[in-house]
This record gives sequence, C-alpha cells and structure tokens, in this order.
Amino acid sequence: MPGKKVHSVAKNLGLSSAALIKLLEEIGIKAKGHMSTLTDEEIKKVMAKISEGKRRVKREFIRRWTKPKVKEKRKKIDPNKIRETVKSTLAKLEKKETKKHYKREEPIKVEAAPTEKVVEVVDFMTIAELAQALERPAIDVIKKCMDLGLMVSLNQRLDLDTISVLCDEYSCTMKAVSVEEHIEPEKEVEEVERPPVVTVMGHVDHGKTTLLDAITKLRVAEQEYGKITQRMAAYQITYNDRVVTFLDTPGHEAFTAMRARGAQVTDIVILVVAAGDGVMPQTVEAIDHARAANVPIIVCINKIDLPKANINLVKTQLAKANVLIEEFGGKTISVETSALKGTGITDLLDAILVKAEELNLKSPLNKAAKGVIIEARLDRGKGNVSTVLVQEGILHKGDPFVCGPHFGRVRELLDERMQKINKVGPSTPILVLGFSGLPQAGEIFIAMSDERRARELANQRQLMERSRKMTAKAKLTLLDLQEKIKTGETKELKIVLKADSAGSVEVLDEKLQELNMENVGVKIIHKGVGKINVSDVLLAEVTGAICVGFHVGPNTNALESAEREGVEMRTYRLIYEALDDLRSAMLGMLEPKVQEILIGEAEVRQVFNISKLGPIAGCYVKDGKVTRNAIARIVRDDKEIAASKVTSLKRFKEDVKEVLTGYECGIALENISDIQKGDVIQFYKIEETATKNGR
Ligand code: GDP
Repeated sequence: MPGKKVHSVAKNLGLSSAALIKLLEEIGIKAKGHMSTLTDEEIKKVMAKISEGKRRVKREFIRRWTKPKVKEKRKKIDPNKIRETVKSTLAKLEKKETKKHYKREEPIKVEAAPTEKVVEVVDFMTIAELAQALERPAIDVIKKCMDLGLMVSLNQRLDLDTISVLCDEYSCTMKAVSVEEHIEPEKEVEEVERPPVVTVMGHVDHGKTTLLDAITKLRVAEQEYGKITQRMAAYQITYNDRVVTFLDTPGHEAFTAMRARGAQVTDIVILVVAAGDGVMPQTVEAIDHARAANVPIIVCINKIDLPKANINLVKTQLAKANVLIEEFGGKTISVETSALKGTGITDLLDAILVKAEELNLKSPLNKAAKGVIIEARLDRGKGNVSTVLVQEGILHKGDPFVCGPHFGRVRELLDERMQKINKVGPSTPILVLGFSGLPQAGEIFIAMSDERRARELANQRQLMERSRKMTAKAKLTLLDLQEKIKTGETKELKIVLKADSAGSVEVLDEKLQELNMENVGVKIIHKGVGKINVSDVLLAEVTGAICVGFHVGPNTNALESAEREGVEMRTYRLIYEALDDLRSAMLGMLEPKVQEILIGEAEVRQVFNISKLGPIAGCYVKDGKVTRNAIARIVRDDKEIAASKVTSLKRFKEDVKEVLTGYECGIALENISDIQKGDVIQFYKIEETATKNGR
C-alpha cells in the first residue's frame, strides 16, 4: 500500500499540515514533515484521535454552558448600567481629545525619542515633514544630517535610504507607507487570500531554467501554452485548483536588485541544488539572500536521475549551511526532482501549496493598486511596456499611476496571450501600457486617483533623482577624505565595515577606535559580517563614508552600485595594512597611485581596412568586456607589440559604450596600423587608488 502524503491527508481532514504533524506526535507517530507518507493504519489512528477529541470538546461545551452560575451572572447585567458606563467613557474620551488639542500647540519637546518608536515615513518627504514625524525640532534633524555629512535645507526632500539612516540615528523603527496611503486616509481594509509568488534560486547549472521549463510544460498539458504569444518575466500556473505565480528570472541579482529598491516580491524561494554537485558557493549565496529578505526556502534536490546523485550528502551539506530540512528535525521542506525527466515536479508544487497555506498570504483589496515592476522594455508598436506584478488592490484599465520618476495612465492591460483585460488583482503579473518613460525593475508602481497628482509626484521624484546624480558625481575616496581632514572640512573618517566573521569585525572595530586622534576620529557607520552589498554602498553613499572589506569583497550588485554612486571600496587581507592606510589618511600621508586594471580580452578574427579610418579589428570578446576609451595592449605570440587606446567601438553599425563576453564587435585603435588576424587585444581601465607612501 503506497500510503498518502501528510499534506493531502491534512487537506482531506480540513486541518493545516502543521496541526496534523502535531497531532501525529501526540499519538506517537513520527512524521518528518509535510511530504512524509502515512500508512492506512496511521490514518485510522488519526481519525480515531480526532473523533475522540470532538467528543471531548462536546462534553466540555455542555459542561460549561449549562453551569447555573453563568446563567445567574448573565441575568444580573442591567442594561441601564451599561448605557451609563458607555456615556461616562465617552465623556472622558472627549475630555482627553480636548487636552490633546491643547498639547499640540505646545512646543515640541527635545528629550531623546523613546527607543523602538515606530515612525511612519513616505519617500521624498521633506526635512520639515520628517522632523514632525520624528517629533523632533527640524533644526535637530538638520544638525544630525550635517553630522552624517549631508548638507540639507528645511524643504529638501529625502529619499527612503536617507530617511532610514536618520530614523536609525534616532533609534526609531521606520515604517514606509506608500504615497497613496499617506495622501488618502486609511479605510477599513478588506483582505483576500492571494497566490504565492515564487522565485527559483541556486548555483549555476543546477537546473533552475530546466525546472521552470518543466513547470511551464504543465501548462502545455493544460493546453494553454499554445495560446501564449508573449512569454513574460512572471507567469501563473494553476495546480490543484490553486494558482501559483512564478518569477521567471532566476538569479540572485534580480532578486537583490529588487530588494535594493525596496521591493519585496517573493514569498517563497525554491533553492535548487544538484544532487551530483551538492552545495556550491552560489547555493550559499542564495540561502543568504533569502535569509536576508526573510523569505522561506523550499529545498529542491534536482538531477536525482544522475548515477552520481548523492541525496543524503546534499542534505548534510545543507544542514552545515544552516538549512535544516524536516527529515533532520528542521522546518524546511525538501523535495527531490529530475527537472530533465519531469519527475517530482508535482511534489514540488504540492510543497509550494503547503508552504503558501502556512504563510497565510493575504492582500488588501479595497485600496489603490500597488505593484512592482518585474521588467520593462520599449516596444516599437506599443511604446513603453512593463510587466507589473500587482501586490495589493485591483488595477483597472484607465487608472492613473506613478512609478519612480515616471507616471502615466493605464492605457491597456494585457495578459500573456495578449488579450486585453479590464482589471487584475493581487499576485498577478500583467503587461501595462502607458508609461511616460521606461521604469527600472524593482520600481514600485502605485495607482492613484488623480492624474495631476501622479504627474506632480513623478516630477518631484525626477528632481530628487537629478540632485542625487549630481551628488553622486563627487566620488568620495579615501584621498578626498584625507584632503577634507587636512583642510579641517571634516573631522571624521567614516567607515562601513564588513568582514568575514564576527570575530574579525570586533577586532577591527576595536583597533580602528584606537586610531582616534586629537583632531580627527574614526566613525563606524555600520559593521557586519559578509560581503559588501548594495545596502552597505547606499549607506556609505548617503553618509559620505567609504566601504572597508576585510577578507571580503563586494558582491556584483555592490560593485556596480559603488561605481554608479561614487563610493570607494577598499579591501584588505591583513589587519595592519588596513590600519596603516586608514591611519595614513588621517595623518595626511596617503599618496595617489595610478593602477591599470585588466577589464577584458578580445581575439582579432578579421581586419577591415577602411581608407579614412585605418584598420578596424573585427573582434570576438573572450573574457570580461571592452569599453570605449579603454587602454588597449596588442599581444601577438604572447608578446606585447603595441599599446594604444580604443577610439571607436561598434556592434553592427551602431556605436556602443561597451561589449561583453561572447559578443563580436568592430574596434578602431589610436595610431595603430599593424594589426593582424589572431592577435589578442587586452583592455585596461585606469584607476586611481590611494596607498601609503612607498607601498
Ligand atoms: P541553470 O543554470 O541552473 O538554469 O541550469 P539549467 O537549467 O540551464 O541546467 C543546466 C544543465 O543541467 C542543462 O544541460 C540541463 O539539461 C541539465 N539538467 C537540468 N536538470 C537536470 C536533471 O534533473 N537531470 C539531469 N540529468 N540534467 C539536468
């Protein structure tokens, strides 16, 4: 007898899986988790226990409600008395209201705000508004900004990152409310159940794409797939009459890039681990990302069809990475699949439904629609088109909206069959037409009742963006800080400190504090374990700090973000090196050092001689990237034969800024006439770093 899975027995009995597991424990049956199998005998025992429980509850019910005492008590209640009590309470409340009114007229107190105070904030609020929310005098908040290295005026608008840093400074918990919530008073919210939104993550080649394909194939079985004309970055499937939304963007960057913009999209992360390879670096990274976002994981042990598959080894490795699956006494559901052969896919979907049930996902319905941009592109016929994942409320055709610095009116709502629809509810991905510009993935989309207000808000955001970009241009390096210290413009060296272990963080923190001198000190803005990530960079950017990594570097997003925002990152492997550099900066002894950094390599596959321009090298980029204006070194037979500079970079006939690995391009080099098929061109960028004299 094959038996039945815990979650399906629970469903039949009208219980949650967790409740059934508890009940099984009570009657001495050990079920390892939602996916464990129960024999018919065990199911009978469960039913007997439930019937016994029902009988007991019935007896208890009769006993309690037939007690004479209760009846007497109930009789004694006098309706007149109730009326009087209500009247007097109302009168008291009214008095309090008046008192409150007077209180508002009084000057705001300057004592320290109580800790853990929750402050409702809205993106782009002014210093004055924030001060009011924090219940602090505006001048106090301005001073605090100056301490953090931000020069601001009373009416300056702040973005959420800065607001969050300020709230931290005042030991307050920030609660970001949407603009719409802020503008329109809260009404009674009606919540409805919504489908879970699932993201697949894991190490490269472990089968994420194949798994998503296998899930998509289920839709072929439902004969829906043939009608799909537009594959969207998110899609829904129906399984056992329940809907599940999948984000079709495997990869950690997409996940974190969205988070960096404040969008929490995913409810459940499927962690794919190939049974042959086991836990790999990106598996651990995926676990950390999911953890940092507080998103539950379902482990999917894939490629179980391979002869070298070692499922138990994977489970043990996961336990070492602190992912304890049910079988090992933990809470994480684990399923085994072969995405290639299509086995175990329904187990995975069952697990998703079980988890979703546990999470009890709900969304408000009767409020302005809110969503997140999953992807955006410019379509020749349709203009700016974005896939929006609606998260709250109902989005209607014709709704005005704001989305980052863009606004618009929903011109059309299209599903993946390109069918026009009039409205969509929570957890549904939908193509939206009608954006004023192209939004970025992760940008928050908010429907508004008034188009004029949406336009106004978008304009405000554009201004904010512009001023952000202007400040970002002034990249703050350790050398700059040294200059500022020298001229007395700043008296602090601000640092966001990351290291490989808690021990290292503590030691460095302590040693850095010892560097404090009479006229200049070190201020650790944030310290933590792990790679330098985007939020570290953002924090450094808004506070005018540099990021220091000890035995850790930046992650990919952080590197890009640091380049964009102009934040310096310095990584060290030895404590004394780190301390030396920072001490030198404080003493004004750092010197700039120009370094050439290799960014890519291309192979010359063909040479075209164009009379006016000279030779153009038709290249294939083998590694890294080529950028316009990069330094180029031509290598023939492993020897460098010339150095030059890229003067023109084209893909097909278009000028481009950069070309990445795996692509072909045409490159013209300054003053180079001798270039041959088979030559290798190395590309470098110049970077100025600071180091102590002589090193
Ligand atoms: P991703 O990089 O994680 O998206 O991995 P892919 O889905 O591209 O899969 C990488 C390779 O593993 C491909 O050649 C797949 O055909 C193969 N693959 C994926 N799932 C399975 C599986 O369950 N069994 C076997 N044998 N191969 C698989």
